[in-house]
Amino acid sequence: MTNSTISTHIHEILNAIYGYQKFRPNQEQIIISIIQKKDNLVIMPTGGGKSLCFQIPALAQPGVAIVVSPLIALMEDQVTSLQQMGVPAVALNSAMTEYDRRQLFENLHQQKIKILYLSPEKLLSGNMLEYLSKFKISMIAVDEAHCVSVWGNDFRPEYAKLSVVRRFLPQVPIIALTATADKVTQEDIVKQLQLREPNISVSSFERKNIKIAVQPGQKRLQRIGYFLNDKKGDSGIVYCLSRKSTESLAAKIQQMGHEAAFYHAGMTARDRSLIQQKFINDEIQVICATIAFGMGIDKSNIRWVIHYDLPKNIEGYYQEIGRAGRDGMPSEALLFSTYSNVSQLRKFIDESPAEEKFKQIQHAKLDRMWQFSNAANCRTNIILNYFNEYRQEGCGHCDNCLYPPKTIDGTKMAQMALSAVYRLKEQATLEQLIAVLRGSNRQDINQRGFTSIKTFGAGRAYSFLDWRSYLLQLLDQGLLFVDHTNGGRLKITPLSKNVLFEKQLVKLKKFVPNEEQKTSKSPKTNTLPSSLIDKLKKWRTDISIQKKIPAYIIITDTTLFEIADKKPRNLEELSKIEGIGIRKLDTYGNGILKTVNGKAATKGGTYLLTYQLLQQGDSIEQIAAKRELNTTTIYSHVAHLYEEKKISSIKSYISNEELQSVIDVLPRFEEPYALKPIYQLLDEKIVYYKIRLAISYYKRHQRK
Ligand code: ADP
Ligand code: ZN
Repeated sequence: MTNSTISTHIHEILNAIYGYQKFRPNQEQIIISIIQKKDNLVIMPTGGGKSLCFQIPALAQPGVAIVVSPLIALMEDQVTSLQQMGVPAVALNSAMTEYDRRQLFENLHQQKIKILYLSPEKLLSGNMLEYLSKFKISMIAVDEAHCVSVWGNDFRPEYAKLSVVRRFLPQVPIIALTATADKVTQEDIVKQLQLREPNISVSSFERKNIKIAVQPGQKRLQRIGYFLNDKKGDSGIVYCLSRKSTESLAAKIQQMGHEAAFYHAGMTARDRSLIQQKFINDEIQVICATIAFGMGIDKSNIRWVIHYDLPKNIEGYYQEIGRAGRDGMPSEALLFSTYSNVSQLRKFIDESPAEEKFKQIQHAKLDRMWQFSNAANCRTNIILNYFNEYRQEGCGHCDNCLYPPKTIDGTKMAQMALSAVYRLKEQATLEQLIAVLRGSNRQDINQRGFTSIKTFGAGRAYSFLDWRSYLLQLLDQGLLFVDHTNGGRLKITPLSKNVLFEKQLVKLKKFVPNEEQKTSKSPKTNTLPSSLIDKLKKWRTDISIQKKIPAYIIITDTTLFEIADKKPRNLEELSKIEGIGIRKLDTYGNGILKTVNGKAATKGGTYLLTYQLLQQGDSIEQIAAKRELNTTTIYSHVAHLYEEKKISSIKSYISNEELQSVIDVLPRFEEPYALKPIYQLLDEKIVYYKIRLAISYYKRHQRK
């Protein structure tokens, strides 16, 4: 097949099954190369659209595709999602009943399955590989492929054994996918899975749809209040450091009038799964959780993530905020920058039983995290740099790009602060230094004799918060140093001397106290009248509960917003909305139209589902049985599809002579053609449905 025929074919699938118009960057070339039987290594960020890269080639080729995936919950989500689109996909897992298992194998034998998901353990157990190698396997996808490498951050021994797959199925192309793999890990994946001259595509790590912001840690609760007022009904996670704070925070957020719950590893498995389920179904809006939350869930419409406490490192931070906006819709990440967290985290590291070298790395990573939270330049670029992606221009979706901070000449302030540290003989903590600079008569300041130094009270003109912000910046610039081994006392550094004695200039980011106002004026995720969205969300939640399927799998947020925006009046218009494939149109079209317009669509339009089934190779009789319609109706769909040029021939349903005799008499009638007079004129020899087909032929060719 040429590239252009493959391209047409896969666009058809993208459009009919998924309801999407265009491929995202890299998707098309990956899919084409898989269909051409090449091995592939795909590095794409979360939400980038990895699953399509193996699902579409699976649908475009004969045989069954095997997908190896480590997490049962994610696997089941994908399977449900595919089934919702009418794709025969199944997951083989240990929780299955014997009956379901037999059914699955029976279906495999009858070639009724296009995609088979299983865990690496299952694939490698017993003689599964041998058994599967008897079928026509179109390809093997290894999801979360970084798990094969000890260099990845989630090594799994059973993944390392996957190389035997190549031996059993030497001709079958392998596609490895992951969101995180540095150069070493990439090379290791290629080696471990024995990929042959793979097509390697690395997409940028940037998550363009996530707005990144950092705010000071003071009055966090109030800031969260402002933030949530803006988020009407949107789902989000607040990550906290301790179990206790998840509980107390959830209670406070509930008091603010939001549906909130907490989640941590100390709860029973039952409670945890209950909360998770309610969150997935949009019954709970806010989850206050420790980082234990989020691993196995694949909710694509998480709209925001807040870090109540500072994360340990940038990897963790990026992974956690990455749970937002997997559906590609605008989402937000808000981090509270709290210095006390840094001290707390340092203590954890120091007290851990790990080796000294390891601890040093942890401290260094924490430093980077802290620098990130105090940065005055593009935050996305700091993250990208961290993952070895370099770029000059700003991202345009972080707070520093959206509201560039003003810098001021902070030389005087820096001199004042540094000389005070020096004169205090490096005995004061950050808090005490501020008290001294502001001339506070606090007891501890008096008692320690701090009031007698020359700079006492020299910085009265600035508020506590100003000083805090500026001193933290001096720390970041390496002009000050906190000795954590000694009660957090401030010390000067070799660099400080340049400021104190060499008149080196110091630039500081201007401190803006009421930052909450700034962010609440941020671009809204939606500006649509909320009532229709609310109605659509309610419709979706109802179905989600009734069918026991996660809400975002039924219809994604992106699609729901587009529906609210475009207000489709009929199935035709609805079918043009992104994310409405043929099957969803058929299953939910009427429900959606009723929610939008107050009335359902008139019959018709469902011929698109017939089209999908025809594409899958079903006969007219099979389609009629599946759809519980009679064959005449299905033939009328076929006629319609032919007229619309969706199918290229009707010759298998009507002979040339029959076709000719209808066409010969048609000029005697007028549109809209009534079938009965034609039937009678032709001596009742040609059945109605064939007349209908012949008319479609006539119309299509007459128009030409
Ligand atoms: P990943 O597996 O890389 O985390 P997914 O494959 O789950 O990402 O894709 C994330 C979301 O983007 C899904 O809702 C998916 O349907 C959607 N998506 C993927 N490709 C496209 C596309 N070409 N057009 C529109 N939406 C897409
Ligand atoms: Zn930026």
